[in-house]
Parts: sequence; structure tokens; C-alpha cells
Amino acid sequence: MYQVVFILGGNLGDRVRLLEASAGMLVSHFGPLVLNSSIFETEAWGGKSSGNYLNQVLVFNTTFLPEEILDIILEIELKMGRKREEKWGDRTMDIDILYLGNKIFNSERLTIPHPYIQDRRFVLEPLTEILPDQLHPVLNKTNKELLKICPDKSSVKHFKK
Ligand code: ADP
Ligand code: MG
Repeated sequence: MYQVVFILGGNLGDRVRLLEASAGMLVSHFGPLVLNSSIFETEAWGGKSSGNYLNQVLVFNTTFLPEEILDIILEIELKMGRKREEKWGDRTMDIDILYLGNKIFNSERLTIPHPYIQDRRFVLEPLTEILPDQLHPVLNKTNKELLKICPDKSSVKHFKK
């Protein structure tokens, strides 16, 4: 049994409803939620997105294999209306796997831990809220330490519904 840590985010449509609906679909596959961060609002990052993103980190326990987990989240993204053409552009829902316990996994389709955790404040803020002392198995730093040295200075704020 491993703890799988997801980040969810989107900047199109009814952003709160899409987060809630995606969380519900994750629960139907993985069982009860173990931990959830607050919802954060984030400046669009890395691309040509127009509106701000909402992001949230969710944690479940699972015995699924890494690529089985990937297949589930890709299916949920599609159900939430994700079109796959855009790279780092506007999207209704992006679900990424940040960690799978302390496992290190690399295949053509999947890299765990997610390769950009340390570069993105919108990932590290919610992660540090709920898992400050979890150790990154490749970088050997905690989430809290990674946030402290993160060069990304984008604005990431608690979102009030
Ligand atoms: P991004 O999340 O970088 O904006 P996409 O959501 O379009 O881009 O993801 C593209 C591909 O990234 C996925 O189809 C998947 O195969 C791959 N991928 C690699 N590592 C991960 C991970 N840790 N979590 C989710 N997807 C991943
Ligand atoms: Mg993704």
C-alpha cells in the first residue's frame, strides 16, 4: 500500500465544481480521501493560458500500479472535458501524480516523482500545507524545504469559495 499524491488543476469552466467532481471520481476509484489541501488560486504558468488556475492536492492510499493510476486519471480528465491538444494551455482539468509513496518510477509514459515539483510554487504551496515533512525520494529534501528554495515567485493564494 502506497500513498498516492495528486495535484488537480484547471482554469476553464466552473473551476470549483470541476475540482469537486474530479475528487468524487477519484474517490470512486481509490476509496476514501486520506488528506486534502485547501484550494489555491494561481497565476497561469508556463504557457499562454488566459485565466487563473485553481489547484488542490489530494492524497489516497492505493495498491494500484503506477501506469494503472495514470490510466485512471487520464480517463477522469477526459470525462471532465479535457481536450488533449494544448500543451500548458487552458484546460478544464489536469491531474498529475506527484508522489507514489517513496517510489521512483520511470517509463515512457510516466515519471514519478513528477519532474517539476521543485519548480512550481502552485504545487509546493498546497503540498507543504498537508505534507510538509514528506521527503522527496530523488532530491532528498522535504516539501517544506523545496518550497523555501523554490525560484518560482508566482502568486499562489488561498481561494475563498
Ligand atoms: P502537463 O501535465 O505537463 O501539463 P499533460 O497533462 O498533457 O501535460 O500530460 C502529458 C503526459 O504526461 C501524460 O499523458 C502522461 O503520459 C505524462 N506524465 C509523465 N509523468 C506524469 C505524472 N507524474 N503525472 C501525470 N502525467 C505524467
Ligand atoms: Mg498532466
